[in-house]
Amino acid sequence: MLEKVEGFNMEKVIEEFEEVTKDAGRVQIETLRKILEDNSEAEYLQNLGLNGRTDPQSFKNCVPLVTHKELEPYINRMIDGDLSSILTSKPITTMSLSSGTTQGKPKFVPWNDELFETTVQIYKTSFAFRNKEFPITSGKALSFIYSSKQFKTKGGLAAGTATTNVFRNSRYTVAMQALKSQCCSPEEVIFGPDFHQSLYCHLLCGLIFCDEVQFVSSTFAHSIVHSFRTFEQVWEDLVADIRDGVLTERVTVPSLRNAMSKILKPDPNLANIIQTKIMGLSNWYGLIQELFPNAKYVYGIMTGSMEPYLKKLRHYAGDLPLLTSDYGSSEGWIATNVNPTLPPESALYTVLPQIGYFEFIPQNKADSDFIDVEPQPVGLTQVKVGQEYEIVITTPAGLYRYRLGDIVKVMGFYNSSPQLKFVRRSSLLLTINIDKNTEKDLQLAVEEASKFLAEEKLEVVDYTSYVDVSKDPGHYVIVWEISGEASEEVLSECCNCLDKSFVDAGYTSSRKVNCIGALELRVVRHGTFQKILEHYIGLGSAVSQFKTPRCVGSNNAKVLQILNENVVNKYFSSAFNN
Ligand code: AMP
Repeated sequence: MLEKVEGFNMEKVIEEFEEVTKDAGRVQIETLRKILEDNSEAEYLQNLGLNGRTDPQSFKNCVPLVTHKELEPYINRMIDGDLSSILTSKPITTMSLSSGTTQGKPKFVPWNDELFETTVQIYKTSFAFRNKEFPITSGKALSFIYSSKQFKTKGGLAAGTATTNVFRNSRYTVAMQALKSQCCSPEEVIFGPDFHQSLYCHLLCGLIFCDEVQFVSSTFAHSIVHSFRTFEQVWEDLVADIRDGVLTERVTVPSLRNAMSKILKPDPNLANIIQTKIMGLSNWYGLIQELFPNAKYVYGIMTGSMEPYLKKLRHYAGDLPLLTSDYGSSEGWIATNVNPTLPPESALYTVLPQIGYFEFIPQNKADSDFIDVEPQPVGLTQVKVGQEYEIVITTPAGLYRYRLGDIVKVMGFYNSSPQLKFVRRSSLLLTINIDKNTEKDLQLAVEEASKFLAEEKLEVVDYTSYVDVSKDPGHYVIVWEISGEASEEVLSECCNCLDKSFVDAGYTSSRKVNCIGALELRVVRHGTFQKILEHYIGLGSAVSQFKTPRCVGSNNAKVLQILNENVVNKYFSSAFNN
């Protein structure tokens, strides 16, 4: 029997999910109708000649597929303060700033209350399914969540990251209480102006409420790993704070000091318990499980560009299961995880047919993934199992037939709604001439090469890449930060292995005839990727939404500068030398 909590009946949520997924085709038609009716006064739609029609075929005939670039002129008018009905009937008053780390620069996308509703809907759905398998009775969550700076655009619109817009919604706390996922840190910590200090306070709150913590989470898994790497550095200060009931001087922000003073009391007994637990760990294995004895799982987005952090996260989590959360973007939500027992590597995201209108562009290998043939999207219920697609979304916040740039694979159906595996971002990462390597190809190469490091009990803390075409022939540069010092011999082996692990025929054939030069592995100083994170935070990103850019474009001068200034060693591959 699933429990009822005020304002949230889990059985009902599951029933509703069953209903809409059984009838996904009809629900999609209905959802499109509602979006188009609600926004019939939008200038964008009016100019396209829909003339009040709301059926999928007319929509497809009249409305073009677009990317962010085509919508930018409309979005820029809103940013500049034009409050007419541009993309939506009701003027947009808030913008989300997407993290931008995957595409080089942050971009503005519209945000409205309807998107908040879909957020609550998706959180409720995944919680209801999660709670069937891993019931949470009462308690708190240690959530490493941070609000980014909120600012006003030139024309006076409020802007912040999508997660910030969610956290700042007055209904957020109520929703989280209903989901028993209330953050154990006070609001001041989430909204603190300095993320290092907020992170320290999150950790401290987690320890103070360690017996009540039911799960440990963040929006993206990177942030959880980052938090416990920080814990390794600062744990003695945390324990001292708890012992004496006095907050370390490293926290200087008055609002944080004030909020923490209300919950931090001298507790030598707890300090001793924590210290003993930490001393008993071997290389921090099982840290999360030890510190939070009642935690049921670790939770956050763990697929796609987060997969490289899973190994470290498992190490910290010990026996606690890792549960990936939902699938969405600043532009809108897409799908939810209703199979929480699957490990993140095999996670399936089931599309919620009532939160947006979805189309899918088949990725045809024969056409080559990356050549721009006129795409022919299919509807949600027409997708085929085993096929890869690029997702196209139509949202209640004014995006119509918007190419999200994500590639997913259909793994099956939940009733009649597809279950997706996230594959990769569609953009190519590394290319010099006929070679084509994606984010996933790079991840696999790094995983393969880092096995040599594992033999030395070392690991890749983080990585990125770029192409260097300043000399002919151009070559790939892979940048690694590693957890300790590896010998020249091992790193040379890693470098050769990276070169050999890009198996795309365009790459290997170009390497053989030296149309692409020897791959270069650059090892950077400890803390380099932290500097990159800080750079993005400075641009308005939120730590919890941060994704390390896996390829740095030549236009990203600042990140290239950070990388170049921190190189400690360079290796060139000899893998293709005769
Ligand atoms: P943002 O720029 O922060 O809005 O990031 C949105 C992007 O993050 C999506 O377009 C995906 O590429 C990625 N993303 C979001 N959720 C997931 C997920 N569950 N698995 C893999 N990637 C995800």
